Amino acid sequence: MATWSCAGVLVGEPPALRRRIAFSCPPIFPILTSFRRFKYRSRAQPTWRRRTVLSLAFARGGDDEVAVLASVTAAAAEEKEEEDVGFLVVNFYKFVLIEDPLVEVSKHLSFLQGLDIHGRIYLSEQGINAQFSGPTKYALAYVDWIKDDDRFSDILVQISPTTTGHAFPRLRVRYKSSLVQVEGGTSDLPLLDPNMRATPLAPFEWRERMQAMNKAGKPFSQEDAVFLGRKSLLLDVRNGYEWDVGHFHGAERPNVDSFRNTSFGLSGQEEVASDSLAQIDKENTDILMYCTGGIRCDVYSAILRHKGFQNLYTLSGGVSNYLKNEGPADWVGNLFVFDSRLSLPPSAYKPEAIAETRPKIIFEGSTFARCYLCGSELLVFKHRNCANIDCNFLFLSCKTCVDKFRGCCSSECKDAPRLRPVLPGHQRYQKWHIYRDGVLQREPKV
Ligand SMILES: [Zn+2]
Ligand SMILES: [Zn+2]
Repeated sequence: MATWSCAGVLVGEPPALRRRIAFSCPPIFPILTSFRRFKYRSRAQPTWRRRTVLSLAFARGGDDEVAVLASVTAAAAEEKEEEDVGFLVVNFYKFVLIEDPLVEVSKHLSFLQGLDIHGRIYLSEQGINAQFSGPTKYALAYVDWIKDDDRFSDILVQISPTTTGHAFPRLRVRYKSSLVQVEGGTSDLPLLDPNMRATPLAPFEWRERMQAMNKAGKPFSQEDAVFLGRKSLLLDVRNGYEWDVGHFHGAERPNVDSFRNTSFGLSGQEEVASDSLAQIDKENTDILMYCTGGIRCDVYSAILRHKGFQNLYTLSGGVSNYLKNEGPADWVGNLFVFDSRLSLPPSAYKPEAIAETRPKIIFEGSTFARCYLCGSELLVFKHRNCANIDCNFLFLSCKTCVDKFRGCCSSECKDAPRLRPVLPGHQRYQKWHIYRDGVLQREPKV
């Protein structure tokens, strides 16, 4: 077989190859005999890519001598791969025994080395809790790697797109004795035993219950909520500010602004007005709990089970899984998320979803989608932190109030000593030292 060394012009499809591959030995003519385009992916690189395979025949002079058949693939395939620069945000958690979580942390760190992944990945003896962002191919490669492990092969992975690159500032992979921040920690809770947690309801089962309770389009009240003859109670196991941008019809606003301090059902014998579980029949009431991704309900249900509540149900995979499967049925507004996107419309989970942006009945004094400062109705449901770093309160604000209060939550905060510059849009603030050092640099040297 002859060996050829040539430069020149390849005639024929596709254009990318015409540009890049060239032959020029005057006596040699490359002839394109066939080309084929196909999609492919591999476990190591799970993003779909395109590849073009060419069959070339090389003819010499005019004697029609076919000398070499070659297949050329690289140039066309690489181009497609570069186009795919979309970012994903991925969430998953699982309660499962991890014998040596520190060893597990270093395994994850070494896999993630060199991959462009940002986020929070926590491991403990009780399992894993992860939220991260990254270019599609890296994010999915990490998911595949996790799922290769038998302990995590059935893990529910929730994926949503982001159009603004990373949704987390940096990567943190750590051992944490509590996978969720809750008063007293989780290490003493029997989280590894599914019987000690709430019974998970699939999104369609949850929707059936919501629709049965929200009869005739009227959001139910906690007094008349009944499903199949059983009294039911809907519990939003999140923070109040999350409810403010979106919630299930009929769910009361949680009266806490930190899940860590949630105390539903823990008030003992005393009657506590703010505790919707204080007076209920623990044996005969179905308690339906929901949160963003499911983990807070799992943890909280183990606490409630211990307190004697017997009929606990949770929305499997949380609201994000529900919106993806059922769309925004009986849901109103957006979903608050704990990354730089702050909140997402239901269409982010199910593109064809048409969301109801206002509840059918707005109760007096409702804080849903209203400016915290002036009470006006908002069209954009995104929070901001108070510009006073010593306050940092997360609140909804209209544009007028952002200007008037310089991004602060009150007049007092506006006059506070450690003010950050007003965020122009709905982003998160950077670390304080960045603003402080910026101010110092601008100050004249004495
Ligand atoms: Zn306002
Ligand atoms: Zn403030």
